[in-house]
Amino acid sequence: MTIWKRKLGLFVGLLSALVIFVPSITTFAKWQVLPGHRVQVISLIGTTKGASNLSIVGSGSASRTVIIVGGDTGVKKSQIHSIATLIKSVSSHILERSLGKLPTNQTEIFLYSQQSGYAGAVKKAFPSKEVSTVVRQTGGFTLGSKVYVPLYKYHDSAFLANTLTHELTHATLNEIGVGSKLPTWMNEGLAWYNGTAAEMTVDKRTALQMTRQLDTQLQQAQKLGELQSIHRDGGNVLEKNPPYNIEFQDYLGVKYLINTYGEDKVTRLLSVLKRDSFSKSFKSVFPISATQFTTSFTGTGRPS
Ligand SMILES: [Zn+2]
Repeated sequence: MTIWKRKLGLFVGLLSALVIFVPSITTFAKWQVLPGHRVQVISLIGTTKGASNLSIVGSGSASRTVIIVGGDTGVKKSQIHSIATLIKSVSSHILERSLGKLPTNQTEIFLYSQQSGYAGAVKKAFPSKEVSTVVRQTGGFTLGSKVYVPLYKYHDSAFLANTLTHELTHATLNEIGVGSKLPTWMNEGLAWYNGTAAEMTVDKRTALQMTRQLDTQLQQAQKLGELQSIHRDGGNVLEKNPPYNIEFQDYLGVKYLINTYGEDKVTRLLSVLKRDSFSKSFKSVFPISATQFTTSFTGTGRPS
C-alpha cells in the first residue's frame, strides 16, 4: 500500500483470493515486457464510448504483459499512456534490479479518476470499518496481482512513479510466492525502497525533500523518546498512529541491509525464502538474525 500524505499506511497482503473485482472497463493498454528488461506498450484498446483501437506502438514476442485498466469512464487514454511510459521507463528497471524479477502477466493496474470508483474498489477489499480511512489515507493498494490507484490524487508524475513502483513491488513479491512470508517491515521496506528509487529517477529534488522531511520526523520522535525499533507484530498501522512514518522506517531498514551487504543479498533472500521460513532464510543470507536486526534497528543509527 502506498501511504497517502506520507504518514500512515498498512499492508494489505494477499487478500486477492478473497476478492472478486470486475470494474467497468473503459480502456486498457497492453504491456509487453521483452527479454532484456524492456517494456513496451503493444496496443491500446478502447472498449466503450470515446475509445477506439488506437495504436500499435510496438510488436514482438511477449514474455510478460501487464494490463493497465481504466477503472471508471473518467480515465483518459493519455493518462493510461503516461502510466505505461512510467512503468516502461522507470519501474521495470528498478524492479528487475532489486527483486531480480518483473511483474508477471497476471498483473493488472486499475486506475480511478474519481473517489467513488476508488471507494468501490476499497469496499471490496477492506473491512467496512476501515473503508473511509483507506479511501482518504492511501495512495494505492495491492491485492495479489491487482494494483489499485486513485489517479485523481496525483498531480505529480514523480510521486505517481513512486506509487506505481511501490505497488508493483508488492504484486511481484506476491507473484514470486513470498509476499505472505515476508514480515511487513521487509515487504513495505522493499516497496518503499523501489518506490523512492523511482521518484528519485523522475524528480530527485522532490524525492530528497520527502526523505528529509520523514527523517526529521524520526529524529523528533527519537528526541521525545517515542521512537520504536522496526520490530512489531501485526496490528493495524492506521489505528496505531505513531508520530512518525513506520513505513519510512521500514524503508531505512531495507536500505541499510542493501547498503551494508549488497543488493544481491535481497534477491538471494527472496530465492531462499521460497522454500524456507523467513528467519531461516534471513540467517542464511545476512550475518545477523532477523530478530536481532529488527529489535535493534530504529532508522537513526546502526543496529546494535
Ligand atoms: Zn505498501
